Amino acid sequence: MPICPSCEIKFNNWYDVAEHIDLMANKRSDKSHVMWLNRNLSIKRLSKEELAKKLEDYFSTPEGLGMWIRKRFIEKFYGENPHPFILAMQKPTRGVLLGYVIEHQHFLKNWVKVLSSIVFKTDKDEVVEYELENIAVEFIGYKGRPSHYELLLRMGESLGMSREKILNTQPLPDTQFAINTWRRIAEEKHWLITMACMHSLELVADRSLRNYGAKLHYFDPQILTSDEYSQAVKDFLREGYEADVSHAGEALHLVEKYAKGIEEEIQINVLKSFDAFSKYLFARLERGIELEPQLMRVITR
Ligand SMILES: [Zn+2]
Repeated sequence: MPICPSCEIKFNNWYDVAEHIDLMANKRSDKSHVMWLNRNLSIKRLSKEELAKKLEDYFSTPEGLGMWIRKRFIEKFYGENPHPFILAMQKPTRGVLLGYVIEHQHFLKNWVKVLSSIVFKTDKDEVVEYELENIAVEFIGYKGRPSHYELLLRMGESLGMSREKILNTQPLPDTQFAINTWRRIAEEKHWLITMACMHSLELVADRSLRNYGAKLHYFDPQILTSDEYSQAVKDFLREGYEADVSHAGEALHLVEKYAKGIEEEIQINVLKSFDAFSKYLFARLERGIELEPQLMRVITR
């Protein structure tokens, strides 16, 4: 059923959604509707007929919901204008990596809490297994290997910041905003929506994105063999790089399998999750600039 992607009101058809968005954005100048249009469809004003057609095309899923999510992710983070954090990761400085560590510890803690809400709500055993394994990999350690959380902290220590200092640094407001967004989704929405919103973010490090049109990798793979970076930095980055490339794909497959009837709701919440993620990636850079002011030049160049 067509839904307003901004305020989530349900309508009978896309023309009615277009009429509503036209009213909210163009006549009432409602900020959230205007922003949605500008970010996703067009910055110029469209007739209601054009808008209805564009909305319908935008949300149609000829290759399935999983592929729709993958392509939207690439558009937003890896398209013509890759996200500045991803650009910075092509040759990350100490500031970029420490910004990553300090903000990401908060992200990872929240990550496992939100995944546990999926475990709590679902009645599908395969979903419970998938999420518990993910929680173990991220936070506890798995099959004799340290957790991603531990590898992240070791990376921070190798860059000269104590574990205590890292753990005692509060998240920046944009990180907190993003965390609140995901917590709200976990509390209020269907577990499948939460699952789609969280695991689609793992696409960020999915090497197979290049096969679907991404212009860059998450970072330059040469870092993994370069002498310029500490072993702990390489160990952390390698974990994501060598993770089973089908990992995020597996979650998207599960989402697609059970999505019947709530596809549009999944789509619009995934877009909200992408917006939160973008803000959060900026927070990593902001923290980096705090530690290394000259980084500002690299980013605005
Ligand atoms: Zn609306």
